[in-house]
Amino acid sequence: MPWRRATDRSMSVRVIPLVDARRPVVAPADAPAQAPTGSLLDRLGRPLTDLRISVTDRCNFRCSYCMPKEVFDKDYRYLPHADLLSFEEITRVARLFVQHGVRKIRLTGGEPLLRKNIEGLVEQLAQLRTPDGKALDLTLTTNGSLLARKSKALKAAGLQRVTVSLDGLDDAVFRAMNDVDFPVAEVLAGIEAAQAAGLGPIKVNMVVKRGTNEQEILPMARRFRGTGVVLRFIEYMDVGATNGWRMDEVLPSAEVVARIAAEFPLVPLEASAPGETAQRWAYADGAGEIGVISSVTQAFCQDCSRARLSTEGQLYLCLFASRGHDLKPLLRGDASDAQVLSAIGHIWQGRADRYSELRALREPDTGDGGPRRVEMSYIGG
Ligand code: SAM
Ligand code: SF4
Ligand code: SF4
Repeated sequence: MPWRRATDRSMSVRVIPLVDARRPVVAPADAPAQAPTGSLLDRLGRPLTDLRISVTDRCNFRCSYCMPKEVFDKDYRYLPHADLLSFEEITRVARLFVQHGVRKIRLTGGEPLLRKNIEGLVEQLAQLRTPDGKALDLTLTTNGSLLARKSKALKAAGLQRVTVSLDGLDDAVFRAMNDVDFPVAEVLAGIEAAQAAGLGPIKVNMVVKRGTNEQEILPMARRFRGTGVVLRFIEYMDVGATNGWRMDEVLPSAEVVARIAAEFPLVPLEASAPGETAQRWAYADGAGEIGVISSVTQAFCQDCSRARLSTEGQLYLCLFASRGHDLKPLLRGDASDAQVLSAIGHIWQGRADRYSELRALREPDTGDGGPRRVEMSYIGG
């Protein structure tokens, strides 16, 4: 496994994603050959319904809250290609997760559209069926930079929807936030191409950083209301160990909602699915809806049914985990489907992660306590 550098602003250390040695990855010999499927619950009674698969740890943007330039520079060692799960390995493990109850798969990264022939993977995943014969909810999160070029092929391959990250409409603000001088017009063209290709309803995610792009909240709301695009505001999170997170840069979702409601009255909506991360609000005049994802100010761990698979096959049980469970030896060895199923089942059954809830119980701090956490660009959002 390669050494991967992850530094913060003040120190330089080398870390590698670790396998959690406290829990067995392969089921013990006396365990049933196959863990119960379809009704898997973790230690807090949460089912496994949602799988996020990171397909690359590379990105063409350097958003300061995710891949700050000073860390992810020309010397940064990304995963070598041989370490990435192949499309066949991803599809196999996804099929087994579906047997365990997963109904929604989101491709992410890094920037997933940078993975060569990503539509080939979409095509394979789109063939998967739930035990009762239904197609999965198959979606992808992208920075939108390649969407104008790729939308049609993604749709043809069987992708249902996309979520596009966009942190503002003002070109100068957007170029500064992606930190590679990428123009906002190209992302907007990508969103339009995705809409035209039928990859909707499209969600647009805006990470709000107080003092950086909060002035973009209302222009974004004005731009997307009435278009069918669901705009979602994400609280800036203390993920990873490199973004220099500070609580005073978090703009609470309640304030976002208040600012929008002052111009466009809003009414609360019910969650559309159990475990949904966003709280939904409808424009009172019928011009659509917005969502807010309040991971910092209103933890939603109690409904968290998401597992995350890294590009190299590490299974993470929480966005804030410091360790993963390495499935690659099983996928590359001669483990049978039943053995891989059993391993996944046991890992999930041992899960008690609830980082955001625990954070809420602590005094606000700089987010640097505890073991070094995995980077967002490594396991995806
Ligand atoms: N590159 C793709 C993109 O940007 O959409 C997919 C990967 S990115 C890691 C997934 C999501 O995580 C994006 O919507 C991004 O805005 C969000 N994200 C990254 N770092 C974050 C942070 N510190 N706080 C909140 N959201 C973050
Ligand atoms: Fe890249 Fe997405 Fe991270 Fe921005 S948020 S640096 S686009 S992976
Ligand atoms: Fe899920 Fe972890 Fe986020 Fe809580 S902190 S909602 S357990 S990913």
